[in-house]
Amino acid sequence: MGFNDHMEEDDGYKDFLQSLISNGHLEGAAEGITKKVIAEGVDSLSSKQKWLFDKNVENYITSECKRAGCDIPWSEMYEAHDNGGICSWCAHMNAKDD
Ligand SMILES: [Zn+2]
Repeated sequence: MGFNDHMEEDDGYKDFLQSLISNGHLEGAAEGITKKVIAEGVDSLSSKQKWLFDKNVENYITSECKRAGCDIPWSEMYEAHDNGGICSWCAHMNAKDD
């Protein structure tokens, strides 16, 4: 049993946040706070930081696919934003329709 046994399960949330940073969607304080969330978790933020984090990141969160109401996992969340709020499966189906 090692130290890593206590790591949070990675469900793609941190990758999603990293994508927002890497693609230049977050700036200044919002970028710094998001890096803190990736490194230390959302519980490490003060209430003011949490407010700023939510305010900046919520625009990119699509929990339900706009085409068919599918649940969108964190691992597809950034792509869903790029697709106009639909999951990768629906984006694929739309592409076939065109
Ligand atoms: Zn869908």
